[in-house]
Amino acid sequence: QGKRDGRGTYRVFESAMDEALKARARLEADLRVAIETGQIEPYYQPVVALPGQTVTGFEVLARWRHPEKGLLMPSTFISVAEETGMIGDLSYLILRRACLDARAWPGHLQLAVNIAPQQFQNPDLALRILAILTETGFQAHRLEVEITETAIVQDLEATRATLGALQALGVRVALDDFGTGYSSLYHLRELRFDKLKIDRSYVDSIGEGDERAKLVDAIIKLGSSLGLVTTAEGIETEASVDWLSNQGCDYGQGYLFGKPMPREEIDRRLDEGLLDTGPVEAPEIGPR
Ligand code: C2E
Ligand code: MG
Ligand code: MG
Ligand code: MG
Repeated sequence: QGKRDGRGTYRVFESAMDEALKARARLEADLRVAIETGQIEPYYQPVVALPGQTVTGFEVLARWRHPEKGLLMPSTFISVAEETGMIGDLSYLILRRACLDARAWPGHLQLAVNIAPQQFQNPDLALRILAILTETGFQAHRLEVEITETAIVQDLEATRATLGALQALGVRVALDDFGTGYSSLYHLRELRFDKLKIDRSYVDSIGEGDERAKLVDAIIKLGSSLGLVTTAEGIETEASVDWLSNQGCDYGQGYLFGKPMPREEIDRRLDEGLLDTGPVEAPEIGPR
């Protein structure tokens, strides 16, 4: 009796494993098709200069318009793309489309794109980006590349080389999700980033009296003393934007200012004058 139960449980487990493997294989195959057939689309989230609401540019975020499942978020496909080596094709496709879309927008607006750690280790990254900039006519100084510390941890020297190559083109490099994962002062000492993006987990509903306030304040001061511009991501409340502005945070991003939107929505808001696009002066990047 007991034996049969055990065997039955094993069969259930086996077929669940089977299903999971099949689902994963299907996802990988679908993603490959999605990349090839244009189902991966750029969405744009406004970045604003603090204090105020002036939009200085957009962060480009990938979305998958799946023929059956609808609009899928990066959490469902970015890690798959990374693990299968498709992330390069996906990110370059997003960058290329964003550069083309941005041609219709005011010429001083910036674009920020996310680049995966393994792409950053690739010595071809700067050349690939240069090729896309040249092809689309998008100026290097309007582009910012965002990387996470996972990239640095993998290979400091490769990161340093890519960072230098991008900056030599005039592209700025931001350290994304700062405060999570492997954050280390050593990385800031060893590598010359242009910007720190304070992770959303520190930012949401931040304000006086919050345990995290001292840390965020310290990050902003650290950034400015190293000549780095700071952006807070994930701002959702008026109170937190007031507090962050008072602490001297340079830029903000979050649902309070706008969720990630398709190109048509950005076009519409620009046409109807719903986005204040400045111009504002960019904060001076300090001496190196
Ligand atoms: P990220 O680069 O840190 O992007 C910020 C994420 O926070 C986005 O999630 C954005 O929608 C979300 N967010 C912004 N403001 C708020 C807010 O006020 N509240 C809340 N709850 N969330 C907010 P999303 O679009 O789901 O992207 C997740 C991550 O996927 C990104 O994190 C980035 O690491 C990665 N990713 C997205 N697109 C690409 C891409 O084209 N290439 C690569 N390599 N990675 C990408
Ligand atoms: Mg980012
Ligand atoms: Mg981020
Ligand atoms: Mg984040």
